[in-house]
Amino acid sequence: MEGEYIVRLDYLSEFINYLKGTGMVYVTRKSHFSASHRLFNPTFSDEKNDAIFDKCNNINGHGHNYVLEVTVKGNPNRETGYVIDLKQLRDIIESEIIDKVDHKHLNYDVPFLQGIIPTAENLAIVFWSILKNSIPTGILYSVKLFESDNNFVEYFGEPVSIPNYGNGAVLS
Ligand SMILES: [Zn+2]
Repeated sequence: MEGEYIVRLDYLSEFINYLKGTGMVYVTRKSHFSASHRLFNPTFSDEKNDAIFDKCNNINGHGHNYVLEVTVKGNPNRETGYVIDLKQLRDIIESEIIDKVDHKHLNYDVPFLQGIIPTAENLAIVFWSILKNSIPTGILYSVKLFESDNNFVEYFGEPVSIPNYGNGAVLS
């Protein structure tokens, strides 16, 4: 009986740590995909799109080898030692994101990106919104997206709204 009491206190202290945000471990899965996109705003003139987006406004698009890092935080489960099973996290990222964007043109081929200017910023925000309710254990902490070795964005889920330009962003 004494042992059981101690175990319950352990769970309580784990829960308090969780509420305080202490005792957190951050687990990251890195994934890769290749995709093309074109950056332009359909409400701008051609001249303004050229001035702002420059080469990224190339009418037939251009490609990137993206690197996606998804981080989940939490207390390790007492019995498994896992915050999240990385195989599960891998499978969720693959089925929810990678399978849908890899080797695709992001302006045309991906239903959940229709009408959105496919900058790395906007991709990270959309990926977060897809993943946030799919994580089985732990809490989604960050979505980091590398567009190149030197350029990357990181999103932590603060509320933000992305304008949707509807068909204008597709048909130009
Ligand atoms: Zn680009």
